[in-house]
Amino acid sequence: MTEHDDHLIRVAALGGRVRALAVDATQVVRKLVEVHGTAPAATAALGRVATGALLLGALLKQEQHLVTLRVRGDGPAGTVLASANGRGEVRGLISNPRPDIEQVRNGKLNVAGAVGRHGHLTVVRDMGMRHPYNSTVELVSGEIGQDLAYYFTRSEQTPSALGVGVFVDRNGGVDAAGGYLIQVLGGLRDDEVEQMEAEISALPHPTTMLRAGETPERILARVFGDAFQVLHRGPVRFHCPCDRDRAERALRLLGGHALEELRHDEAERGHSDVVCEFCGTRYRFTLADIDRLIADAA
Ligand code: ZN
Repeated sequence: MTEHDDHLIRVAALGGRVRALAVDATQVVRKLVEVHGTAPAATAALGRVATGALLLGALLKQEQHLVTLRVRGDGPAGTVLASANGRGEVRGLISNPRPDIEQVRNGKLNVAGAVGRHGHLTVVRDMGMRHPYNSTVELVSGEIGQDLAYYFTRSEQTPSALGVGVFVDRNGGVDAAGGYLIQVLGGLRDDEVEQMEAEISALPHPTTMLRAGETPERILARVFGDAFQVLHRGPVRFHCPCDRDRAERALRLLGGHALEELRHDEAERGHSDVVCEFCGTRYRFTLADIDRLIADAA
């Protein structure tokens, strides 16, 4: 397996008229596979969604803001979702990590077979306001990359080129994962647009570049030469912010009646575990803990 230094860069190109980002998210996706035990096509689906969330996260104004990318298709993988913050931390989940499908179709990981070709992609931005901002588009292909590009064009009216990819080796391990996002913010001449489009369409697949040892910086240099300025360079990593307090709040939300039922059901076992669906961490609550929650709910 190739070595990877997971990081993301955000640059201004062509005098700030173009914004571009690129990310190596290989170790992030390896961690997602470890946590969720995904089969190859699901690994690619979840990894692409997580890479997309990291790219969107890097456009947030504040580090603590959160963006969630949720794909709900009609395929057997069910919902595929990832959330990233402005610090480059991401977590994700997939309803069915091992859908019973052909993993590879026409020589490619069968992502659309896992996700489904029909359904919706929703982007939710939580910027600490009372209501998160969210926007939904229909899926175009279920391949994630095209769906996200369509989202940017349709929902944000920003012409965007996007590539996200996960390369899974024959043992199911992740050899490379990452992507890029290039957005025209305005004011390009036709010849500039044409040249940029030619460079973008000549780009190899993101994982081909990452597997060859190319960095995010090098990927953007293929498009812009040295005509860009790095605005941000930072690490990206898997991180789940769950903790015991949150697990306890989830139990409290059940309310007194459901807690009594839970206590009854778990009486023999002597405890109840709340398992984080994002990272698998188990929080154990004893019967005495549950009694305390019941008393508080009364
Ligand atoms: Zn967690």
